Amino acid sequence: MIMSRNPTSGDRVNVLALTGGIIHTGTETLHGHAVLIEDGRVAGVMTEADVPPSATPHDLAGDHLAPGFIDLQVNGGGGVLFNDTPTCETARQIANAHRSFGVTGLLLTYITGPADGMARAAEAVRQAMDEETRVPGVLGIHFEGPHLNPERTGVHDRTLIRPCNDADVAKLTHLCDLATGCTLVTLAPECVPLAAITTLAQHGAVIAAGHTMAEPDDLAVAIDAGLTGVTHLFNAMAPMGSRAPGTVGGALADDRLWCSIIADGHHVHPASMAAAWRAKPAGKLLLVSDAMGPVGSTAPTSFTLGDAAVQVGEGRCITPDGRLAGSLLSMDAAVRYCVNTLNIELDEALRMAATYPARAINQGDRRGEIAPGFVADLVQLDPALIPKATWIAGQISM
Ligand SMILES: [Zn+2]
Repeated sequence: MIMSRNPTSGDRVNVLALTGGIIHTGTETLHGHAVLIEDGRVAGVMTEADVPPSATPHDLAGDHLAPGFIDLQVNGGGGVLFNDTPTCETARQIANAHRSFGVTGLLLTYITGPADGMARAAEAVRQAMDEETRVPGVLGIHFEGPHLNPERTGVHDRTLIRPCNDADVAKLTHLCDLATGCTLVTLAPECVPLAAITTLAQHGAVIAAGHTMAEPDDLAVAIDAGLTGVTHLFNAMAPMGSRAPGTVGGALADDRLWCSIIADGHHVHPASMAAAWRAKPAGKLLLVSDAMGPVGSTAPTSFTLGDAAVQVGEGRCITPDGRLAGSLLSMDAAVRYCVNTLNIELDEALRMAATYPARAINQGDRRGEIAPGFVADLVQLDPALIPKATWIAGQISM
């Protein structure tokens, strides 16, 4: 249920004061402080004694308050997959499902598909970000494919994976121009002309390497062309060996690259994840869910992805030949995994779920922190780190 606590009609703008919680701003942890929300933005962070008496109080009852989670890779949720029906209504179902897990910003992810499907997906996201048909929480689109390495397809449809020619670049740049929000493109840099990376980056796309066999040299030239990130580190990429560093070695060794990671305990071994966390500088390892349709729905036991029948159970989605097909992960569960299994400090785990992904898509100046002027996208978590409420642009949902 969405309740407006910040009506825009009337002479007086209502100011909301969130009090009585532990506030994780993204840079520090505050006790005895309040967050003021006004007109959809954070108006101030102050001691509770300094809260203006005119503000409407909202008691956090000792819970944690953090920047809302930002998930750069959401294939589905609430029982639907974006690829199956890329419409604004599907976007709404998915965003609503993930909001209950603390997600206040997400990129709808369209995996390798036909050109007309990509166009429909872009149009759906444009509608989801339009004032009239707005879906709270949608920040843009993530095209994962189709310009991937055929040797690292994962569950993507091999027949639709192809090299990137001039016409593909023109189509993708057109889709970037059409989109009003962020466009993230995951591609295999060794399969794509460097000029294509530069052109896409110039049109505002964020470029990440994924489903790739790129070696460090490939990554280095792609970074010069505009590559900034790596999609689901370790999965569907050349692994790290002693004399063959692979994509993983290149991604870990280059401080400029952010790396997303699927922290569900199935995609990446906890020791590998701990190694990645130690290797990357602060701010460059971030959480994504790679969630599929069953996340946030009443437990279907299977779904289809292209021609593959995917079985759901034991915390994962798996094809008959044993490949992982996305995840059953939600961002709050990823945060709990970081804290409880990897012993990552809560503050840092929260940053990996919000602050760092915001920066990866160049929105670190307005999202991912609780600071004056930032969009009031927030999550309230109980002591067990279960989400209890979210605010998107100051509008609460519990
Ligand atoms: Zn993937």
